[in-house]
Amino acid sequence: MFLSFFESKGHLKMNSFSLIPHNDNSLLLINSGMAPLKPYFTRQEIPPCYRVTTCQKCIRTGDIENVGKTDRHGTFFEMLGNFSFGDYFKHEAIAWSWEFLTQVVGLEEDRLYPSVYLDDDEAFEIWNKEIGIAPERIFRFGKEDNFWEHGAGPCGPCSEIYYDRGEKYGCGKPGCTVGCDCDRYMEIWNNVFTQFNNDGHGNYTTLEYKNIDTGMGLERLASVVQDVDSIFDVDTLKALREEVCRLANCTYKENADKDVSIRLITDHIRSVTFMVSDGIMPSNEGRGYVLRRLLRRAARHGRLLGIEGNFLSGLSREVIEVSKGGYPELEERQEFITRVITEEEEKFNKTIDQGLNILAEMKEALVAKGEKVLSGDDAFKLYDTYGFPMDLTEEILEEDGITIDEEGFQAAMTEQKEKARKARKTTNYMGADVTVYQSIDAAVTSEFVGYDYLTFESPITVLTTESDVVEALVDGQQGTIFTEQTPFYATSGGQEGDNGIISIGDSIFEVKDTIKLQGGKIGHVGIVTAGMFKVGDKVTLAVNEEKRNATRKNHSATHLLQKALKIVLGNHVEQAGSSNNDKHLRFDFTHFSAMTPEEIKRVEDIVNEEISAGLPVLTKVMNIEDAKKTGAMALFGEKYGENVRVVSMGDFSKELCGGTHVANTANIALFKIVSEAGVAAGVRRIEALTGQGVIEYYNKVEEELNAAVSAAKCEPSQLVKRIEALQDEIKELHRENDKLKNQMAKDAMGDVMDKVVEVAGVKLLAVKLDNVDMNGLRNLGDQLKAKLGDGVVALASAVDGKVNLITMATDGAMAKGAHAGNIIKAIAKHVGGGGGGRPNMAQAGGKNPAGIDAALEDAKNVLESQIH
Ligand code: ATP
Ligand code: MG
Repeated sequence: MFLSFFESKGHLKMNSFSLIPHNDNSLLLINSGMAPLKPYFTRQEIPPCYRVTTCQKCIRTGDIENVGKTDRHGTFFEMLGNFSFGDYFKHEAIAWSWEFLTQVVGLEEDRLYPSVYLDDDEAFEIWNKEIGIAPERIFRFGKEDNFWEHGAGPCGPCSEIYYDRGEKYGCGKPGCTVGCDCDRYMEIWNNVFTQFNNDGHGNYTTLEYKNIDTGMGLERLASVVQDVDSIFDVDTLKALREEVCRLANCTYKENADKDVSIRLITDHIRSVTFMVSDGIMPSNEGRGYVLRRLLRRAARHGRLLGIEGNFLSGLSREVIEVSKGGYPELEERQEFITRVITEEEEKFNKTIDQGLNILAEMKEALVAKGEKVLSGDDAFKLYDTYGFPMDLTEEILEEDGITIDEEGFQAAMTEQKEKARKARKTTNYMGADVTVYQSIDAAVTSEFVGYDYLTFESPITVLTTESDVVEALVDGQQGTIFTEQTPFYATSGGQEGDNGIISIGDSIFEVKDTIKLQGGKIGHVGIVTAGMFKVGDKVTLAVNEEKRNATRKNHSATHLLQKALKIVLGNHVEQAGSSNNDKHLRFDFTHFSAMTPEEIKRVEDIVNEEISAGLPVLTKVMNIEDAKKTGAMALFGEKYGENVRVVSMGDFSKELCGGTHVANTANIALFKIVSEAGVAAGVRRIEALTGQGVIEYYNKVEEELNAAVSAAKCEPSQLVKRIEALQDEIKELHRENDKLKNQMAKDAMGDVMDKVVEVAGVKLLAVKLDNVDMNGLRNLGDQLKAKLGDGVVALASAVDGKVNLITMATDGAMAKGAHAGNIIKAIAKHVGGGGGGRPNMAQAGGKNPAGIDAALEDAKNVLESQIH
C-alpha cells in the first residue's frame, strides 16, 4: 500500500538495496532507507528519478540491547520510505504522510501526534494550518530527538508522527506523554527535512537542493494496524516466534525471562538470515563480527530455553519462507544460507565447550588460592574470546560461591571500546575523505568504448591535479584526465584498470591507473611526461595492449575457474572476491575446508579442457531479470543496474560481468593453479596463472630443477633417488661421528676410577677432561655414575675457551644429602659462570677455563657441607 501510494504521487519504486553499503565507509550495515541513496542526496550521482520510494531491509546493531525488552525494536526491520532529491519539500511530505496514515491505512486522527524540531516554525505551521492539528497536540523536541545529522554533510530538522496505543501500554508515571520512552506513544514515521549543510565545524549553510528523507518501520505500523502488543505479534513474526516456542517446548507469555529469549531469537535469526543472503560471512571483524555476535546470542538464548542441538538453520528456513516474496534472493541462496549458519552454530557449540574448560581452569586456580572473586580481565576474556556473556559466567561460578569483579569487567570492556573508537577514523557523511573528484560537475560522465577499441580519439572534459580541478596540466605534473569517451578499462569487477598513453601532438601523458568514480566517470591517473594538456583538447587514448591482453586471459580464466569449482566442490561455491591483472588471477570463494590435491587437479583439468575446446566468448547486454532467467551467475550484494552485460563461454559458463575478455577460450592457452589457502572462516583463495604466465612459471621450475640436478650431479630422473641416497649417507655419517666422539671422550678420561675420593662417607669423582662437549659429558657422566655404583660425579671440560660443567648424584648419595644442583651453583663461580638444576643432575657453562681445577677442588667442600 505504501509503495503504491507513493507511486501514485510520482515516485519511482526501487528494490531494497543490499545490507552491505556501497562506497560508504561510515556504515558497517545499511540501517535506514536513505543510507544507500546518499549519492543522490549529495548529487554525486544523478538519480534515476527525483522522487523515489523503497522498502529497505535494515540492521541496527545499536538497538541490540533493546531487543526482546521493548515492544518496538528489532535488530532487523524493514523501513518504508519516500524520498525527494531536491524536488518536493515539507508541504508535500507532511501532507502525504498524513494522508497515507489516516486515509489509506485508516488510523484514527486523534491518536496521532506530530512532533517538530524546536525552531522549525515552518513545519509547525504546516501541521497546524494546513493539516489542522491543534497546537497543543504538536510537540516540539530538541536537537537530540528531532535534528538529523551525521558528521559533516547534509542535515536538517525532523518531524515525527507518534501513535497513541492506549493507556494499557503506558508506564503510568506522571508526565507520560508523547516522547516518553515507554511503549504507549510509539514513533512510527519520521520525516527528515534535509535543508542544511554542516561543514564539519558546526557552520550551517542552506542546501541548494533540499531533500526529503522519510522512514517508517513496517513492523511497527503493522503492529498498530493489526492492533497487537508488539512487533513480535505481527503475523509474520508471530509465526517465527511460535516456531521458537515449539522448539523450546514452551508457551509464550508464561515466563517473562523466557519471553525475552524467545523474542531475541525471533529477531536475531531474521538479521542472521538476511545478512548471510547478502554474502556476509561470520568473522572476527566488521560486518562478519556483527553476524557472528547475533548468531551466537541467538544460539545462547536457545540454550537458556533448553533447546538442544543446532536449531538456527532450521529457523532460518522459516524466515526464508515468510520473506521470500519480497526478497527472492533468500530463496535463491537457501542452500548456502543453511550451510553457513549450520557451520557457525557448530563452531559456537565447540567454542562454548572450550570456554567451559577455560572457566573450569580459572575456577580451580581461584580455589587453590582460596580466592572468591574472578578478575574482571578473566571474565572479559571469556566474554570477548569465547562469547561467554557475563551472566553465564556468573551462573556457573555461583555454584562455588565465586563472584565476578564487575567493575573490572566494565573497565576491560570500556578499554576495548576505547581502542576500537580510536581505531575508527573520523569520517564525513559518506565516511570518506573529501577528494578533488567530488568537486567535479555530476553531469560529467565518460563512455567506455574499450570493448571494441584499444585506441580512440576524444576531447578532454575535465583535468585535475591531486587537489584541484584545473584548466591545464603541464610537463611533470601529476593528475587525472577525463574524456568524453575512453577505451581504457577502469578497475572494477576485480579487473585491474588499463595502463597506456594519452597524447596530442608531442604532448604525452602516461596513464598509470584507470579508476571508476561515482556518477559514471572514468579517470585516467598519471603524469605528463612531455608538453601540456588543456580542457577541450582532442586527445588520442592508446591502451597498453600487452597488459590488456594478458589481463583478459586471466579474467576469462576466472570465469572458467568459478564454474569448475562449482562442478568439483558443489553449488555452495560463491565468489567472495576476485582480482586479476596481467600477472595473475586471484579468486576468493566460499568453501568450508581446504581443497585436496585431487580436487585442485580436477579443477585445473576441467579449466584446461574448456580452454582446448576453444569455446567462443560472447557478450550480450540484456535486462537484469532476463539475465537471471538465463541462469547467469551474479554476485552477492552487488548493485546491478537495469541492464547488465552477460558474458558466456560456450554453454559452459555464463556470468554477469562488465570486464574485458578473450574472444575465444583457446586464447587463454594454459591454466595453472599455484596456491590454494584459507583467508577467513569459510573462505578459500586460489591463485593461478594463464598463458605466458604458465610458461614463465614452468621455465622457472625447470631452471631450479636444472640447478638441483647439476648440484646433485645426476640425471633429472635420478634426482629423488639421489637425494634419498644422500640422506641415508648423512644419517650413517652422523652415527659414526657420535661413536667416534664417545670413544674420544673415553680415551680422554683415561683411567679415572683411581681419582675417586671419599667425602664424609660419600664417593666423589671430580675430573677434568679435554675438549668434550656437554652432550659428551652427559654420556660419560651416566657411565661413570653406573661404574661408581653410588656417589657423586663432577666433570669439567674446556672447549674453545668455554667451560662445560656437569654434576650428577645417585639416589643413595641424595639420600645422604648430596644435591647436584647446589654443588654446581657453588662451583660454577670458579669458572666465571652460573647454573643450577635438579638434585640428581645439573649443568653449567663458564668463561674461565683456568678456574676448572679450583672448581673441582671446591666440589669436595660443598659436598662435605651437604652430607648430614
Ligand atoms: P526509536 O526512538 O523508537 O528507536 P528511531 O528514532 O531510532 O526510533 P528512526 O531512526 O527515525 O527511528 O527510524 C525511522 C523509523 O524506523 C522509525 O520511525 C521506526 O518506525 C522504524 N524503526 C527504527 N528503529 C527500529 C527498530 N530497531 N526496529 C523496528 N523498527 C524501527
Ligand atoms: Mg532508535
